[in-house]
Amino acid sequence: MLANDLAPWPGDTPFEFQLKWRMAEGATVNVGAVTMGVHNGTHADAIFHFDPSGGTIESIPLETYVGPATVIDVAHLFALGDAAELRQVAVSDLERGLAAMSVTPRFLLKTNVWRDSWKFPDRIPVIAPDVPRWLQARGVKLLGLDLPSVDTIDSKTLPNHHALAAAGVMIVESLDLSAVDAGNYNFAALPLKIAAGDAAPVRAILWRE
Ligand SMILES: [Zn+2]
Repeated sequence: MLANDLAPWPGDTPFEFQLKWRMAEGATVNVGAVTMGVHNGTHADAIFHFDPSGGTIESIPLETYVGPATVIDVAHLFALGDAAELRQVAVSDLERGLAAMSVTPRFLLKTNVWRDSWKFPDRIPVIAPDVPRWLQARGVKLLGLDLPSVDTIDSKTLPNHHALAAAGVMIVESLDLSAVDAGNYNFAALPLKIAAGDAAPVRAILWRE
């Protein structure tokens, strides 16, 4: 959900919705305005976010963000919460999580580590360096996570962002998968068509026929 006081990335522009015209104050209609960094709430990253020569959000084919998806639950790795060591999510964890599920072009990773959208996490788990190539080998085009980044919060070089881009895997961050079980679904998370955008908010949904 996008709401005032949602925790932004430290230093980023927070989300703010404000009514500029108010019927309660005599206006003909209510009209709101939004200010926000485009990485607030659930959003898709464009490669331009971390590579100045990379494509911007409106240029990414929409079929990337619509179609079958596989939710992989690795929350048990971090079940002890803040006390648990936030180790990397390894290829073997993903293989175990996949179990008998069919592989689709979109993987959504449920860690359940970030449970309070009003408090930005100090630390988050990240994928191991060999995961992007493993995803590529399985024809995966999109990786979504219930985390605000695919790299550590303090990363300056963003190795996983770059490795995923090199593997042709687009990124959706800050999903809410808390009520979603592992399994195969249909997925849609279309980014707003922001010209020259480094990212864009999405409304992400999962459904089954
Ligand atoms: Zn982002």
